[in-house]
Amino acid sequence: MKDCKKVSEEISSDKNCQTNLLEKAQFYFHLSICPPCRRYFKHIKSLKNGVQNIFKEFVKENEGHIKKIEEDVIQKIKKQ
Ligand SMILES: [Zn+2]
Repeated sequence: MKDCKKVSEEISSDKNCQTNLLEKAQFYFHLSICPPCRRYFKHIKSLKNGVQNIFKEFVKENEGHIKKIEEDVIQKIKKQ
């Protein structure tokens, strides 16, 4: 059985610790019975989504610029 320490480590770590279905089931089972871990999980998840949204906005705002960089790179590769 997973405890809070283990679960919170898994939540905050970027790599996937839940290598199999049993691990995953234990992880979500713990979240379902433990409100503090559930809150922590939601918090981290929204933080990660927030970062992703910021990145998406950045890409959107700089789309033209990024395209130009891409074209430059392609040109350079073609010249080689
Ligand atoms: Zn817990």
